Amino acid sequence: MWLNIPSNSDFSIHNLPFGVFKTTDKGPRAGVAIGDHIVDLVAAAEHNLFGKRRFFKKVLEQSTLNEFIALGKPVTNRVRRKVQDWLSQATRPDNASAILCDRHSATMLMPVRVPNYTDFYSSIEHATNVGKMFRPDNPLLPNWRWLPVGYHGRASSIVVSGTPIQWPHGQLLPKGQETPVYGPTQQMDFELEMAFVIGKESPLGTPINIENAEEYIFGLVLFNDWSARDIQRWEYVPLGPFLGKNFGSSISPWIVPLEALKPFRTKGPKQNPAPLAYLSQRGIKNIDINLEVSVTSPKSNVETAVVKSNTRYLYWSMAQQLAHHTVNGCNVQVGDMMASGTISGPTPDSFGSMLELSWGGSKPLTLKDGSTRTFLQPGDTVTIRGWSEKEGRRVGFGEVTGLLKQ
Ligand code: MN
Repeated sequence: MWLNIPSNSDFSIHNLPFGVFKTTDKGPRAGVAIGDHIVDLVAAAEHNLFGKRRFFKKVLEQSTLNEFIALGKPVTNRVRRKVQDWLSQATRPDNASAILCDRHSATMLMPVRVPNYTDFYSSIEHATNVGKMFRPDNPLLPNWRWLPVGYHGRASSIVVSGTPIQWPHGQLLPKGQETPVYGPTQQMDFELEMAFVIGKESPLGTPINIENAEEYIFGLVLFNDWSARDIQRWEYVPLGPFLGKNFGSSISPWIVPLEALKPFRTKGPKQNPAPLAYLSQRGIKNIDINLEVSVTSPKSNVETAVVKSNTRYLYWSMAQQLAHHTVNGCNVQVGDMMASGTISGPTPDSFGSMLELSWGGSKPLTLKDGSTRTFLQPGDTVTIRGWSEKEGRRVGFGEVTGLLKQ
């Protein structure tokens, strides 16, 4: 390989995730991340990397990947292989400087237009922790082990990493009182999640069979589902989350194709009771992705890692989520985003939200600058990172970061 890739880079030759970027002299376009560079797919098409099919250039020179993704996995995977071949040559090709961009001077944009957003609740550790705080005798509700619980979230407020999040205001019920007040949230939280991006539409009225479900998954991104717990607690009965969630969710800009994660497949937790037939799956469906969350306070600018978790803990797989989502005939569209729900592990340092880390606000965390947190504060920055690593092969997601501004 002629290009130098730092060995600790998330964007190895095995990864090649897709995103949309712009630079000072190039408008929005599709790219593939490689090390500290981006392969400009529009320039690559101009240099006939994908054959002489000129229509590609038009599909790639857009502000979202939806149209490109909709071409289907045979096409998008072939583009990835062509890029891989081009990068794997022994000597630097003549067109290298025309096709490569410096990744650190590019601005990343939302990779897809998101028609619909669904948030699941697929971590048994998270559901049990939250349940314990609110219903100590009966933490896991009776439906939880039978179906992947989820709700329809707000697609329009999903933003790309680096976009500041406005501190939300809303109705809060002060402790011990019966009348709510209006004001800024006092219990701002992150949720450590992964989301998958739909790559193939399904018609309304036709369920997706669990055996084919992964054909509909284009790739994955890191997902921070910001949550105002006090607003959520007061509003959520009986219809579920609303204003405590819909003010913003942040995603990482590079969509890692499902195919790039194949070497990191791992068995999920044993499901008991056995799921109903339409949710019964064969094969190895979980993925071993290390996850880390850090918080940076405005006064120090030093990150403190507060969570280390892993997607392997998820009880319900992506295929099960998708089969359940559509079993009633609900359709899916290219660009739809389906988030896992907070990913908590078995140990307290793997809990994926401040709600759990501080156990409902009763156990403050100490940051490296000496300040403490039960929930987040205005000016805090939250960063999530994720990566898979096995036998010297690293496939990572980069990061999703967001500053809470007042
Ligand atoms: Mn969530």
